[in-house]
Amino acid sequence: MESGKKTREMFKRAQNCMPYGVTSNYRYWGDDKSLVLKEGKGAYVWDQDDNKYLDYRLGFGPVILGHGYASVVDEVTRALRRGNVFAMTHEYEIEAAEKIKKLTGVDLVRYANSGTEATMHAIRIARAFTGRNKIIKFEGTYHGLHDCVMWSTWPPFEAVGFRNSPVPIAQGSGVPQMISELVMLVPFNDEELLEQKIKANWGDVACIIMEPVMGNCASIMPKDGYLEFVRNICDQFGIVLIFDEVKTGFRIAKGGAQEYFNVQADLVTYAKAMGNGFPIAAIGGKKDIMAGLLHGHVVQGGTYTGNVVATAAACATLDEIENGALEKVKAHGEKLKAGISKIFQQRGIAGFVQGPDAMPAIVFSEMESISDFRDMANTDGATYSKIIWKLFEKGVMPDTGVHEPWFISASHTDSDADIAIGAFEEALTEVVG
Ligand code: PMP
Repeated sequence: MESGKKTREMFKRAQNCMPYGVTSNYRYWGDDKSLVLKEGKGAYVWDQDDNKYLDYRLGFGPVILGHGYASVVDEVTRALRRGNVFAMTHEYEIEAAEKIKKLTGVDLVRYANSGTEATMHAIRIARAFTGRNKIIKFEGTYHGLHDCVMWSTWPPFEAVGFRNSPVPIAQGSGVPQMISELVMLVPFNDEELLEQKIKANWGDVACIIMEPVMGNCASIMPKDGYLEFVRNICDQFGIVLIFDEVKTGFRIAKGGAQEYFNVQADLVTYAKAMGNGFPIAAIGGKKDIMAGLLHGHVVQGGTYTGNVVATAAACATLDEIENGALEKVKAHGEKLKAGISKIFQQRGIAGFVQGPDAMPAIVFSEMESISDFRDMANTDGATYSKIIWKLFEKGVMPDTGVHEPWFISASHTDSDADIAIGAFEEALTEVVG
């Protein structure tokens, strides 16, 4: 469906007061395509012209239960009446941290307000703990918008260099080139290259930061045994292992990727699903590492960290997650994956659906499977992109980014899956015949 007159007018208004009319670069879809939304309820969102979309973006993933989810809204409303920011420990904060510990197995928790903040703090903690400065990051992973991690997130393929010595490419300008000296890049799922890099540099390496599932690169899964390998090599060389679970946490399993793959990291960052869309994040970790968090050792904090609204939202959300919400997410994801895979098979189209049920991604490729950013860069993103725009016309809304998975909430029903599968089939026909 075409976005209508009211949406276009309001977007013009937005462009007069915010660069490109958005407050995140990733939300700009073009002057005549970017949407201005009015409302979200359950699995659906509406734009200013009351066009209705089945939402698989879910605000880039956080809305694990559904938009405007009653138990979360009620808890937040109750909490708000008694004030929001105390900059002092309060009960919701404690309760949410207890729930995080119980669900994930981390020893201690500190809060932040976004995934960006959480990974920034986690890296600082790892540097302090090891007394080393460099980090190892994987090509194609995204850990937020602080200088240290804005390297080779989705670099232009022509510029990435050899596989065994990737060129660090800054994500946009304004990131000082000198910071790249602190970042070592490796391809995901390649044990040999990681081992070589570590053996040559381990005395400088504070941490490996990784998305255990590449949630920002079409949900590429770790190969069997890969995470165990990374875990072991970190232990061998005294390197802190950080799982960035901003996308996978409280989504792919109650205990996130740590539970899903049965591998424990030293530090874990959470955000999106933990608050069903309220701005809250957390750094969880092992006691000996987190123990450094005191003035004089490692400093972490912020005026709004652990505020009442955010932690009340987390309490209510984590309760739902503990009590079975993810089963609904998984069931919908399974159906969606099976439906789309069947269409690929029946039509003999080179492509597949990959990733966990709660955040599957669609890839058009002649390859049987893909295992890192370089593989992904050689898939047919152009065809998939055309399909995404066709899906919008049919009222189904995955993200426009071809590397983004489809996010599923507990409010997505069985019949919604039928709608999405049907729309996908129509869109595919229109694009590839
Ligand atoms: N880490 C990962 C894995 C993410 O996917 C994101 C956001 N997409 C971030 C960190 C940054 O989170 P935020 O946008 O809340 O700063």
